[in-house]
Amino acid sequence: MSELANKALKFIPGVGPVRATVLEKELQVHHAEQMLFVFPYKYVDRTRFYRISELTADLTYVQLRGKIMSFEVVGSARSKRLTARFTDGSDVLELVWFRGLKYIQDRIKTGVEYIVFGRISVFNHQLSLPHPDLETPAQYASIGNAGLQPFYNTTEKMKSHHLNSKAIHGIQVHLIKSMTQPFPETLPIDLLRKFRLMPLHDALVQMHMPTHPDLLKQARYRLAFEELFYLQLNILRYKSARSLNYKGFPFEQVGALFHSFFAHYLPYVLTEAQKRVIREIRADLGRPIQMNRLLQGDVGSGKTLVALMSMLLAVDNGFQAAMMAPTEILAHQHLETLQTFLQDMPIRVALLTGSTKAKERKQLHADLLSGELNLLVGTHALIEDTVQFANLGLVVIDEQHRFGVEQRSRMWLKNDRPPHVLVMTATPIPRTLAMTVYGDLDVSVIDELPPGRKPIQTMHQYDNRRTNLYAFIREQLAQGRQIYVVYPLIQESEKSDYKNLEEGIKHIQEVFPSVPVGMVHGKMKPADKDAAMLAFANGETRILVATTVIEVGVNVPNASVMLIESAERFGLSQLHQLRGRVGRGGDQSYCVLLTSHKLSEESRKRIEIMCSTNDGFEIAEADMKMRGPGDLEGTQQSGIPFDLKVAHLSRDGQLLEYVRNVAKGILEEDPTLEKERNALLKIELKKRFSTDVNWSVIS
Ligand code: ADP
Ligand code: MG
Repeated sequence: MSELANKALKFIPGVGPVRATVLEKELQVHHAEQMLFVFPYKYVDRTRFYRISELTADLTYVQLRGKIMSFEVVGSARSKRLTARFTDGSDVLELVWFRGLKYIQDRIKTGVEYIVFGRISVFNHQLSLPHPDLETPAQYASIGNAGLQPFYNTTEKMKSHHLNSKAIHGIQVHLIKSMTQPFPETLPIDLLRKFRLMPLHDALVQMHMPTHPDLLKQARYRLAFEELFYLQLNILRYKSARSLNYKGFPFEQVGALFHSFFAHYLPYVLTEAQKRVIREIRADLGRPIQMNRLLQGDVGSGKTLVALMSMLLAVDNGFQAAMMAPTEILAHQHLETLQTFLQDMPIRVALLTGSTKAKERKQLHADLLSGELNLLVGTHALIEDTVQFANLGLVVIDEQHRFGVEQRSRMWLKNDRPPHVLVMTATPIPRTLAMTVYGDLDVSVIDELPPGRKPIQTMHQYDNRRTNLYAFIREQLAQGRQIYVVYPLIQESEKSDYKNLEEGIKHIQEVFPSVPVGMVHGKMKPADKDAAMLAFANGETRILVATTVIEVGVNVPNASVMLIESAERFGLSQLHQLRGRVGRGGDQSYCVLLTSHKLSEESRKRIEIMCSTNDGFEIAEADMKMRGPGDLEGTQQSGIPFDLKVAHLSRDGQLLEYVRNVAKGILEEDPTLEKERNALLKIELKKRFSTDVNWSVIS
């Protein structure tokens, strides 16, 4: 702790009790030390001066040196404003104020030199500078010798209490100057030396009062290093504690079943990515440590086969395996897939779901306990305590984010040592994020689709042009294909411009009177939902009108068109998941994104990204850049502090990987951080992560 930790905000000169409360509320800072860690979000180079004659509309912030020739108040009532004619000899520019006219008017003088700084605006094809900063040369000189002006985030509330960026800067400068000792270091000295990091005190000074762009860069690097380092150290500490505490079952042999499947039953050649991932899993399973692996692979990348081959390894070693899916229909599909793949191999597979009949269930329980049943596929029903295995060695969890923490962790208790766990997801998240959110898991990635797939063609259409679209759909139907139509909502919401599912289905039936149409949505009973899905999967219905409930895993290879209504309402990852429902057979498939003409910039960008790539990882990266990591699907509720102060998961990927290795190295030598030289690390971890992240959330 520094000397500032005991200093209340209200005692900072110029703050006082009222503003102190505002700062506490708006910035969540409670004392002077925390205040010092409120960093600028950008720095503007104030060394560069422009000439008025070289200004163009696409410059943003500009700085000029010159004199005011004249000023006047023009307009009346609402359009009342103060305008000043400003010149630097090269040309004349209008400065304009809409608020605080009196205040400015009383202070500005003609004929004296000002440094003018502001953001260019264009009005009636004329450039002007609204609400510029005006400084005398003496005031300008106080920015500091680097000429880098820090900008701090402020809120409306803060501004109304005169806590603008400049005021915050004033507070920071005061705090730095008031320190009588250097700010205490938070990284061990040997780390600072080894990685040539700037001491914390110097870094804080540079962040608020930069003296040189290079030093500012070093300051930022040090702070980002520290932030990510402690984040990784914390995650990896859990991981190493777990491998110390939980022994696993070693699957020592790759036996007869695996080999004979590979040689005789595998219906196609594995992709390189599948091979690599199977090797990774095999290596894990061979060790006496519990495997906790996340398998990421885009929709259609062939995860099920990887799961199956992993399960064969379990059976080869005398263990049972279970595979859990979030819905009945998916569980059914998995069962069918496994049965088809395994054909007449000597392996018994069964299905257990909520709708398994009592009598059948009883037999199943008995066969599991006796070990006669090798593989069990099912839904949440697998979790129940009555489901006991003779010797469960591997649990595969499909679409893992659909399961709660507690549900997943209960599978751990189904043997006297925890079985190996393979969790699978088709929601790709960027690698940097995976290292953090799933930081205590090992991650495998299938980054390649099976050969022969025709990439899905995605197009954007405005919804008032749907007539052409229907002609296209009719053509696809005539070729025997099936169609998905997805709506964002089930019931009409307050916003009546969004398509209503029920109206939608009526409309579709009118347009295609002779085509059988089905419907699924979230408010239907599970059994009805399954029946509707099944009817579509069997081809009894040819068009399925649905909400996003069809998102997860369903495989209907004959469906070739995914039509998404009000596509601007969906997030990127949802759009990508929906699109993944088509393109599963050999036919060319299409995804049509229908939107209204009114599109926000963000929506337009999402649509553009969807039309430009089919790569889930690329989409996830873009999503992270647009929304920030904390809002991505699969990262919520992880308890990870995403509001990093200096580092950015989307930008600092390399640094993240680097510090992760640094943290790994430290934990390898000292897994519980008992050594004297790691004492500071332990203190800092405790300080930073006092509310523990529940890592079982993700394993
Ligand atoms: P997902 O990763 O979305 O779960 P699936 O496991 O359902 O994907 O696989 C999608 C389709 O690709 C299935 O029909 C599967 O049989 C097929 N498939 C999987 N691996 C291969 C491969 N190596 N070559 C050709 N087709 C494959
Ligand atoms: Mg799947």
